[in-house]
Amino acid sequence: MITGLVDPLEKTITLDDVAPKWAKRLAEEKKLPFPLSFKWFKWYFELDIPKRCVVGEAHGFSSSYEKECEECNRLGWQFGHSFIMRSRAGLDGDVCNFLQHWKDTHLSST
Ligand SMILES: [Zn+2]
Repeated sequence: MITGLVDPLEKTITLDDVAPKWAKRLAEEKKLPFPLSFKWFKWYFELDIPKRCVVGEAHGFSSSYEKECEECNRLGWQFGHSFIMRSRAGLDGDVCNFLQHWKDTHLSST
C-alpha cells in the first residue's frame, strides 16, 4: 500500500465546490437573515424556487432533479424547511447530507 495518495473517491467536497453562490451566502451569514427582512425574503423565495435553491444551483440552476432524483428533491424541500424554522444547525445538517448524497450519487456522473 502506498501512503500519501488520496483515493479520488474519498476526496472531500465542500458546498463551495457544488453550489458556490449558496456557500458564500451561508458562510457570510453567521446567523440566518432576520425574519421578514429584505434578505430573508430573498432567501425564502430562492429556496422556494427549485432551480435557484441550493440543490438547484448544484444542478447548474436546473430543476431537472425534481423528476430525476428523489433524494435531491427531498433535500431541496428540507433546506427550505430548516430555513423557515430558522435552524442554522438544521441547514448545516442539510448541507452535510446533501454533500454526502452528491458525492455518492452525482459526483461521478457530472
Ligand atoms: Zn440527487
